[in-house]
Amino acid sequence: MERPAGVSAVNFDGVATCPPLPEVAEAMRPWLSERHANPESRHAAGAAARRAVEEARADVAALVGAKPEEVVFTSGATEANNLAVRGAAAWLRRAGDSGVAVPAHEHPSLLHPARTLAREGFTVAEIAVGRDGLLPPAAVPGLPRGLLAFSHAHAELGTLQPAAELAAAARASGTRVLVDATLTAGRIPCTVETLGGPDLLTLSFHHFGGPMGVGALLIRGGLPIAPLLEGGAQERGYRPGTPNLPGIVGAGVAARIARGTLAEREAALRRAAADLREGLQGIDGLHFTGPPPESRLPGHVSFTVERIEGESLLLRIEAEGVLAATGSPCADVAGFASAALLAAGYTRNEARGHLVSCAPPHPAPSSAATREAAAAVQRVVGALRALAPGAETPGR
Ligand code: PMP
Repeated sequence: MERPAGVSAVNFDGVATCPPLPEVAEAMRPWLSERHANPESRHAAGAAARRAVEEARADVAALVGAKPEEVVFTSGATEANNLAVRGAAAWLRRAGDSGVAVPAHEHPSLLHPARTLAREGFTVAEIAVGRDGLLPPAAVPGLPRGLLAFSHAHAELGTLQPAAELAAAARASGTRVLVDATLTAGRIPCTVETLGGPDLLTLSFHHFGGPMGVGALLIRGGLPIAPLLEGGAQERGYRPGTPNLPGIVGAGVAARIARGTLAEREAALRRAAADLREGLQGIDGLHFTGPPPESRLPGHVSFTVERIEGESLLLRIEAEGVLAATGSPCADVAGFASAALLAAGYTRNEARGHLVSCAPPHPAPSSAATREAAAAVQRVVGALRALAPGAETPGR
């Protein structure tokens, strides 16, 4: 719904994307006009473009404490995850380790390529998780050896996985690790070290102030990953094709700005989530989903409301100036119910009534705006209940 000019919404739709920072748009502009050049060109403009890409690569590496040569730019986290999982097939086959393990409620960009490998004859374990979405490190030794892939933060349940413990358990079993840090890198302090030194790490820049259509896969320790595309030597052959120069420049600026502000961002996100939870607390029939705050992505609150469809709630709160989501924009949806929630043991009704609110990091909504958002949810729940006072929720 269009908002009247000058009235800004309270944005709790940070799992979908976050607004680009003004500095990012400004830094990208010349590369879309007078500085446009192919970084592979052997003239001065090409050399300048090449330097800009390498500068961005260094900034991205610095954000997560990695080496610039480990960074492979992609079109986003979806491509990075596909490259990591499908690109590992040849190495897994050669190493005699044929297994990939992925939590059953994972983001489709990890789950679907794993299922493709399963169709190609690899052993693929979809790891059962409970309603908190947490993957226990104790489960790792029982998984197929090879590659363990998981999202650091789950878009729909807000679960923050114990990445370092999982990586240590995987290493002890001789298993490599892929961490998708789409929702954590650039928002909260998060480096290869704090993540336990994963072999592969996924980033997405539009989730923390950079442009859409740019992501990165960090390939560490020389793990042999086969490219998905053929026909060029760009990105050291891992990702052939003329790169998205303006996007990569914007990604570098977003990474540089984020690096200096991560502790503040985290504190503001925690405060926003705490305010929102407090404001929602008393709403009749509202149940928080996912793990408790200490195991959640800072800024993320998810919940179901009995007898209310997530979709109706979403549209009504938008009319009140609050943006949220019913799930991840990439979620598999079966009959309006998120496959990820069903996989984590939620009922179809709970999954249909689910709402995800995730604050963007820059800036996180103020306490006053957050209180307003919670009050809007309360009003809308009351109004929807009044419309269908007798409705029951079968089989919560
Ligand atoms: N992984 C996770 C955990 C996500 O939440 C998302 C999107 N929200 C993606 C991957 C896909 O990211 P992109 O939009 O960069 O393809």
